[in-house]
Amino acid sequence: MATAVVPKVYKNFINGEWVESRSGKSMENRNPANTDELIGMFPLATEDDVNAAIDAAREAYKTWRLVPAPKRAEILFRAAEILVRRKEDLARDMTREMGKVLAEARGDVQEAIDMTYYMAGEGRRLFGQTTPSELPNKFAMSVRQPIGVCTLITPWNFPMAIPSWKIMPALICGNTVVFKPASDTPLSAYNLVQVLTEAGVPRGVVNILTGSGSNVGAPLMKHPDVKVVSFTGSTEIGRVVSTACATDFKHCTLEMGGKNIIIVMDDANLDLAVDGAIWGGFGTTGQRCTAASRVTVHKKVYKEFLDRFTARAKSLKVGDGLDPSTAMGPCVNEGQLKTVMQYVHIGINEGARLAAGGHRLDSGNYKRGWFHQPTIFADCDPNMRVSQEEIFGPVVSVIPCDNLDNALDIANGVVYGLSASIYTRDVNKAFRALRDIYTGIVYVNAPTIGAETHLPFGGTKQTGNGHREAGTAAIDFYSEWKTIYIDYSDRLQRAQIDTGSFAHAE
Ligand code: NAD
Ligand code: MN
Repeated sequence: MATAVVPKVYKNFINGEWVESRSGKSMENRNPANTDELIGMFPLATEDDVNAAIDAAREAYKTWRLVPAPKRAEILFRAAEILVRRKEDLARDMTREMGKVLAEARGDVQEAIDMTYYMAGEGRRLFGQTTPSELPNKFAMSVRQPIGVCTLITPWNFPMAIPSWKIMPALICGNTVVFKPASDTPLSAYNLVQVLTEAGVPRGVVNILTGSGSNVGAPLMKHPDVKVVSFTGSTEIGRVVSTACATDFKHCTLEMGGKNIIIVMDDANLDLAVDGAIWGGFGTTGQRCTAASRVTVHKKVYKEFLDRFTARAKSLKVGDGLDPSTAMGPCVNEGQLKTVMQYVHIGINEGARLAAGGHRLDSGNYKRGWFHQPTIFADCDPNMRVSQEEIFGPVVSVIPCDNLDNALDIANGVVYGLSASIYTRDVNKAFRALRDIYTGIVYVNAPTIGAETHLPFGGTKQTGNGHREAGTAAIDFYSEWKTIYIDYSDRLQRAQIDTGSFAHAE
């Protein structure tokens, strides 16, 4: 499949069957490194398809919720095993459809593997609490219950990892799902669902629909039978999702934009900081929610850091992610490339100094792709648009700072709060940063990217709405507490009122 030349026609998966869209229409999935390469045709689902998928998920929920969690876990465990066996093919498909270099695509698949094993393990935990009652002959505990049909809407930048963060915890908790992936990366989504079906997920438990946000995503999140909506994407669309969910109190988790920062103090290991800024800024072509799109550097080491950072950025080889010598792939699509080019103009106009890159690459081998140079703006003011707004491309704004306090103000001076990092060898500075940076994730002596699946993931302010994905936080989101009291005293016992003698306890 990974090297197929003839474009394949893919289908939606509804109620255990691969079916065409009721619209009969489809969309193209092309390779952003070479747009001549048509990877496949994917259905443009309609509202009828949405209703059919939700009906299937609602019916399947009646039985899936009663399957013992350790049995649900066995299916996830088998899915993880299949993902392991197929990792290389899945990674190549991913690179072809969205451009990230193969090593990173392998990492994306590995993250899905990790999450699937992790949630399979949770099937034998899903711990609640057992605690003494305040009354005699009374038993108290809390258990997790599933919620129902979940709508899962995902972006294109982690085509398999992010869907797995949502699907696996939803399933282990006993929910059923309808999944709408981003239109740029339907193949990785299809591949993941294919693996789940092979692993034995019962009919209707997992459904996938491809198509646009407005025609598929919107009806999916508004449907009255949907109880949970999990969205990862832009803050702009996240606001629309949040508002739609508010009307009938759907549970809603939002993982949105970021403007993450690396702080480089004057005592930092500069080689390490440069490595981190290169990987954080230009990994996945800067198209990571946790990308280090700002670096603030202590004025004492500013020039030295900037010289080394720009030299390294200029030497990065841009190209097709399948070529092992490529360090940075293309932007995911034309729109994303244009956004990057616009921000380069914005930066220049507001007085930022272009220290590396700044141009689209479109000659020779680059002709058929959405390539852009790794770009660095130097001497940025923290209030410039290039220092404030999410660009989601290979553009890093470098901002000089005077001291730690100044750096922390700059770090917190944006509307987002996903990830931040500090390079320092001073434990006092590190701990002050850990305490005072208001983000969901903070790293010390490591870049802003590199989350692990068994720890909570998410952000503050306009990055999130207070929930976290991954870790046990995901279990908290995809289940609801049920508190259970069992009174075996054979008489009416009134909590908070019968506070007297406990002579009857025996
Ligand atoms: P996007 O918001 O354009 O789209 C995300 C998903 O929402 C897609 O599947 C899209 O089809 C769907 N959608 C669009 N309009 C919709 C509507 N009206 N109703 C319902 N669904 C709709 O984002 P994108 O361009 O795919 O991804 C890039 C963005 O995602 C960036 O802002 C990035 O920061 C963010 N992101 C955040 C995280 C995180 O965990 N915080 C992770 C990855 C990406
Ligand atoms: Mn694509």
